[in-house]
Amino acid sequence: MSRWKRMAGVKRARVEEAQSTPPDRIIREIPLIERYSRHNESEDVRFRTYLKVRLDQTSEETDAIVRKTTDEIWSQIDCTKCAHCCKTMQVAVDATDVKRLAARLGITPQKFSRRYTKVDEYRERWFAKSPCEFLGEDNCCTIYEDRPKACRDFPYLHSDHFVGRTMMMISNTSRCPIVFNVWQALKVRLGFRRSR
Ligand code: SF4
Ligand code: SF4
Repeated sequence: MSRWKRMAGVKRARVEEAQSTPPDRIIREIPLIERYSRHNESEDVRFRTYLKVRLDQTSEETDAIVRKTTDEIWSQIDCTKCAHCCKTMQVAVDATDVKRLAARLGITPQKFSRRYTKVDEYRERWFAKSPCEFLGEDNCCTIYEDRPKACRDFPYLHSDHFVGRTMMMISNTSRCPIVFNVWQALKVRLGFRRSR
């Protein structure tokens, strides 16, 4: 066996070992996450390049590892103790969301749009207020079963083609403890050499 093949085999074995190792300590505190995210900025950009250019596996293989890592980390984070996304992020709403939510509140879609949404200069519709006015005092969503699609899909870690959404992931590392911890765990699991 050639030296290069042996080295590739050793690297693959290390990556496989890392993928089966439980993630390190989970960090949940938003101020700490914001600080680490600022500190990690250049490393995160290097990791993005690594994912897009150097990682030797298919998009489907990467998505499978991202989903497995997400499930492991999400099971250790209680969103009702956080709700940071609902308190700080803008929520996009489409016509289907408006219709569903209007029906839930027993008002017309037009009335719902006027009362709860706004339209930006690109003609995109958003919830008018942040923090979200549907967030309850107990940090639970008061319209959970009918929440907008954007809320259902957030933080987009189970969607296909993770590698195509890495800019958004970098931006969300400082906002969402799940994204932050998954992103850090992926650096280890996907064989990225971290800064010291
Ligand atoms: S999705 Fe992320 S930001 Fe939103 S509540 Fe859960 S951990 Fe917090
Ligand atoms: S609709 Fe519910 S899940 Fe979406 S931002 Fe508001 S409180 Fe959070």
